[in-house]
Amino acid sequence: MKQQPWQATLPAMIEPASSFLSITLPQLQRVDHPDFASAGISVDVLRLDTVHPVVSGNKWFKLKYNLDTAISNGAATLVSFGGAWSNHLHALACAGKLAGLQTLAFVRGELPVPLNDCLADCIANGMRLVPLSREEYRRRHDPSFVTGLLENIEKPCVIPEGGANIDGLRGCAEILQGIDQAVFHQVALACGTGTTLAGLLMTSSLPVLGIQVLKGEGYLRGEVASMLSGSGIIPGVDWRIEDRFHRGGYARVDGELLDFCRTFEDTTGVPIEPVYSGKLMMALCEMAATGVFPAGHRVLAIHGGGLQGKRGYFI
Ligand SMILES: *Cc1c(COP(=O)(O)O)cnc(C)c1O
Repeated sequence: MKQQPWQATLPAMIEPASSFLSITLPQLQRVDHPDFASAGISVDVLRLDTVHPVVSGNKWFKLKYNLDTAISNGAATLVSFGGAWSNHLHALACAGKLAGLQTLAFVRGELPVPLNDCLADCIANGMRLVPLSREEYRRRHDPSFVTGLLENIEKPCVIPEGGANIDGLRGCAEILQGIDQAVFHQVALACGTGTTLAGLLMTSSLPVLGIQVLKGEGYLRGEVASMLSGSGIIPGVDWRIEDRFHRGGYARVDGELLDFCRTFEDTTGVPIEPVYSGKLMMALCEMAATGVFPAGHRVLAIHGGGLQGKRGYFI
């Protein structure tokens, strides 16, 4: 792949984030599920949930270069945004601690009392939590609002919600490193902001299928298209986003989805949670059962991690 202009190498004296965020290579695991077997397709899951004990899944990849940038810019405090069950904030708190940087999170809505497990972990890793009202939170991309929030914060470096920026993309471009793509026909993953999908498109030689976990017909297709053009990425493979599997919206779950997650885990031994990986696997099962994939099709599914969020559901 051609070197992109923003793929500058770090100055030599700076220790890259990958040195303190040590990574275990993600396992590739065959998913033995009856829906896949009856459709005559195979699904292998790339277990990004196993790369690091806390900095889980695609968030590890999104944070890696964000930390490098923060460190090389002399930042003292990593600042970000997220909901009360944010996998991104959970990962950031731990990554910041490992990097020796302070972390501060602006949390959407009131802080739950008592704190939920996710935010309690964030605090245990030294993160400061500041609640924003939902109205304030909506202004998180407004530079003048954010500048106001940053007053009195020591050398802040803002990482957007979900790690959705160019450094996040660069990290996600490395997800398929070491994978023999030639044995698959397609990559599939769950999409929230679409950053992971856009990053994958930089290095994937396979068509990429995104399962949108939030509501909004065609919404992510547009977001990803503008992310790609804004970053000068011209994908060499087909990509598409299915927007019909969100089950009512982001983090909306129902009994059928929770049942699916339980049964799927028991059957396959692959742990999933209902917000991302559960919706992805349910979508793949439904697509397999309705004949969307030709027999013999081999799917590489990306497990985005984030299993900590499961603690918010009774499964
Ligand atoms: C954040 C997250 C995603 C969504 O990634 P995007 O790059 O925002 O599309 C998917 N799965 C898990 C587990 C996540 O935590």
